[in-house]
Amino acid sequence: MTLRLPEGKRLAVNIGVDFDAQCAFNGVMGTLSPSILSRGDFDVEVGTPRLLALFAKYDINTTWCVPGHTLVTFPDAVRRVLDGGHEIAAHGAYHEAVTGLSEAEERRLMDLQLTQHDKIVGRRPRGYRSPSWDFSQATLGILEEYGFDWDSSLMGNDFFPYRPRPVVTHRERANEFGPPSRVLELPVSWFMDDFPAIDHVPGALQGLMSTDGVFARWRDTFDYAYANAPGGMVTLTVHGLVSGRAHAIMMLERFIRHVAEHDGIWFTGLSDIHDRWRD
Ligand SMILES: [Zn+2]
Repeated sequence: MTLRLPEGKRLAVNIGVDFDAQCAFNGVMGTLSPSILSRGDFDVEVGTPRLLALFAKYDINTTWCVPGHTLVTFPDAVRRVLDGGHEIAAHGAYHEAVTGLSEAEERRLMDLQLTQHDKIVGRRPRGYRSPSWDFSQATLGILEEYGFDWDSSLMGNDFFPYRPRPVVTHRERANEFGPPSRVLELPVSWFMDDFPAIDHVPGALQGLMSTDGVFARWRDTFDYAYANAPGGMVTLTVHGLVSGRAHAIMMLERFIRHVAEHDGIWFTGLSDIHDRWRD
């Protein structure tokens, strides 16, 4: 099964920007110190303008996954993203780890973030990316109930969308699978994410890889998909507070140039990719 790509296109490429700003570290840090918050300022003041300028230079449509907290704290920056022609998707209320929430709390935070999207973006998002890419047992059902078209948090494939299904796990007998979801999964990968490779969070994440090493991984992933997965997609996840840094944005531009040198590349948003899928 492949995407029905536009005439002449071989591979869809999505750059997803997780615009976490000052709630970026809620999932991993006990406190939000002034230093941690300043990294959110960098995201808004430096990283986001650099990313927007880079995407404009190469005429690339991207998807920005934005927590409600970023929407209401930095509405002017969100406006600049929209003015650049990029789509906005849901990315939690305050970058909460949904795995630690009760179903009632998860539902309350979904209501809250959708209200914030209505207020700041002017409409509800079609897609959801879970903060830190994990689900509770309730998340998939909540996404279905709230009418999301797609999710982009899971890792059951690499170059093709799929329909995730609930799993009841057992240890001494086989796991049980529920029916495939109507929510389409546009899968992600930690290997195609700038954050774990490059960032550093004292006591929580070492990162700090050489950009040559990260570039080689991204390039090889793209080259493999281009050769072996025609009609598929490649997703890359970046953050302004990481890829907005000088060395990292030079690597990102190198990657974009490498991709753009190939015939039949469709740089596009995740909702566009969703709309090209038929089961
Ligand atoms: Zn995030």
